[in-house]
Amino acid sequence: MSLTSLNNGPSLVDFSSVLPPELWVLVLSYLSKEDRYVVRASSRRLRTLSDHPSLWRDSTVVLSDLRRYTFGFWSTLESRRLTRVAVRHLRRQEWRRLLRFLPSLTAVVFLDGCRQYQEKYLDNLWRFESLRELGVRNAAWSEPLISLTLAERLAEQLTHLSVCNVQIPSEEDFIRTVSGFSNLRFLLFHPKESECRCGTRVRPVPMPVFHGLLLGLKKLRHLSWGTMSELRKPLPDDYFSPADPEHPGSFQYGGPELTSLELVDYMESALSKDALKNLTSLRSLKIHYKHIRKDEECCLGYWLTSLPNLESLSIHGGNSLSNYAAKIPPSVTRLTLRMILTLKDLHLISTKLPQLKELDIWQNRSSGSVCRRIPKLFPELRTLRIRFFRREPEKDLLNLVRLRHLQRLELLVEHFFIIRDYLNGHQWPSPAVQELIDQLYSLSHNRIYTVTSMRQRNPRWDCDCIWEGD
Ligand SMILES: [Zn+2]
Repeated sequence: MSLTSLNNGPSLVDFSSVLPPELWVLVLSYLSKEDRYVVRASSRRLRTLSDHPSLWRDSTVVLSDLRRYTFGFWSTLESRRLTRVAVRHLRRQEWRRLLRFLPSLTAVVFLDGCRQYQEKYLDNLWRFESLRELGVRNAAWSEPLISLTLAERLAEQLTHLSVCNVQIPSEEDFIRTVSGFSNLRFLLFHPKESECRCGTRVRPVPMPVFHGLLLGLKKLRHLSWGTMSELRKPLPDDYFSPADPEHPGSFQYGGPELTSLELVDYMESALSKDALKNLTSLRSLKIHYKHIRKDEECCLGYWLTSLPNLESLSIHGGNSLSNYAAKIPPSVTRLTLRMILTLKDLHLISTKLPQLKELDIWQNRSSGSVCRRIPKLFPELRTLRIRFFRREPEKDLLNLVRLRHLQRLELLVEHFFIIRDYLNGHQWPSPAVQELIDQLYSLSHNRIYTVTSMRQRNPRWDCDCIWEGD
């Protein structure tokens, strides 16, 4: 039965009572959000079942205009026990309404502010006693983003903080304030580029201030840092390695045991070859290069040699893969490459990582027939994600059945590709590709599950700089 046919008849009420509620909730958990809404509109019972809190545990609701929402709307959010919201264009006095209807919020993301804000704008946040996560994106503050009073109140409360593309009077002062959030485990800071005579640029946070941050945030595990572009000279060798002040005699690393580091808008020359040598606890490294200049030495190979525990590596742009492929540690089981790849590149990686479990690449002209080669190069793959840029996958897709452990295949296309095909009256996946997907599913005895749509953007952490969707 199709989901839309659920809307059609009075027999539905009986149908919904055939299963006990817990089984209905289980069934509903397998549906997409869109399909769940269709089911929800079918009957009062299914509406209640569809609002079961377990189905909305990881959801973040986006609120755009609080004046429009009815009591029924707030009551639905209450039944789902939603505790995470992203708010857009929220007027200062509307924080009170949020506090009244959702007092147990654990996460608030402020999105796309349309005017200049002042220090007191976020001051109501301290009233949310369960608040642990705060995000601010695409906005401008004429005064400090977080006032000293608010900082004091949130100091031990916040575990996640994400600030991207926000104009603030002083980045240094902001980082000093954040240094006092001693329970932070996740910090994303991508400052807004400002105009100067020579174009747009970001001033790096000076080393003493950055060291103060690393020394203050002992529990920090994930750092996404975006201040590495357009430097006149490289940052000091020990920029990421503050010395432990309790051992003044000999150098001992005093920063947090980071497990995940992301560098956004990174320029090759910003950090030295030894920059990450004390971050041996890293399990995940992600670098989004801004652009490279000719004759700049690639440091990535040096960095990789000092990361023996690395499991996940994600490189977006930058120097040619041949500069660092041989240095990728064998501990890496998840690899994402966002660059033009040749079959030679893939061969090079496979010699280093024959046990790779997850691979995420682009298919372009230079890659040739990756689907034909991949089963030989990476026989242990469990997950494979390919984004097609030029043309749809062809019959060689069926070669993937030779990947004996493959369970999840993601086939995506670039946005302009969909637009072009849409204008020609096609859709993604086209009937021809869908037929190949069905064949692959059947040939693999229902083992290889194929996804053709991008995962949904999480407004909490997928900021514009790192979101890859359309
Ligand atoms: Zn960002």
